[in-house]
Amino acid sequence: MFSDAFLQHIELEYGNRGKKGLDIVNVRRVKQYKDYFVVVGESDEYIVEDEFCTCKDFLFSSPKNDAKCSHMIAVKVAKQKDIIDAVDAWYQDVRPLP
Ligand SMILES: [Zn+2]
Repeated sequence: MFSDAFLQHIELEYGNRGKKGLDIVNVRRVKQYKDYFVVVGESDEYIVEDEFCTCKDFLFSSPKNDAKCSHMIAVKVAKQKDIIDAVDAWYQDVRPLP
């Protein structure tokens, strides 16, 4: 689905998280609800916004560390390559926030 050059670029820039992010895109686990981008993870779902993700990886990453979590990378790549499953629903309705 991705060119070798693109894979290399992502890996170089984001390392392991980049690889994980690409895996997520490959299996189409990036969903676009009407209100949020949502990444379906192995044990949970995560809401991703431009500079924010609800996962622990993001929460505990150092602010100086701009290697974002795999979900943010996944959303970024999915947007770029237009590989997003659109869901015709509001995520807040499907899964109310705590
Ligand atoms: Zn995340």
